[in-house]
Amino acid sequence: MPSGNVIRGARVGSAPVRPDERHPPAPRQDVTYWCRNDHRTSIRIAADAVAPPLWDCPRCGLPAGQDAQNPPGRARAEPYKSHLAYVKERRTAEEGEALLAEALDALRRRRGE
Ligand SMILES: [Zn+2]
Repeated sequence: MPSGNVIRGARVGSAPVRPDERHPPAPRQDVTYWCRNDHRTSIRIAADAVAPPLWDCPRCGLPAGQDAQNPPGRARAEPYKSHLAYVKERRTAEEGEALLAEALDALRRRRGE
């Protein structure tokens, strides 16, 4: 005599009674971006979120903006800057010297000089 029915019967009873846990989907908005290569990208974000002004174009990597007629990057606002250039922007040479002297001092103290 097969015992399959008995097992199946037990299984039905052991299944958890699950209340409907689904939430209604949060409201969304589509935001479209254009890069200067006329690539169009749409992203979907929460309706109450503020869309970022720029989005990296997934096709060419250029920044894309929400104005199709005036995509960002045509006149490059900020030229590429090296890390050192950014550091130099924040610190003067004198500040740099002071920091260097301070760091060397600390190093010498640690070494017991
Ligand atoms: Zn692009």
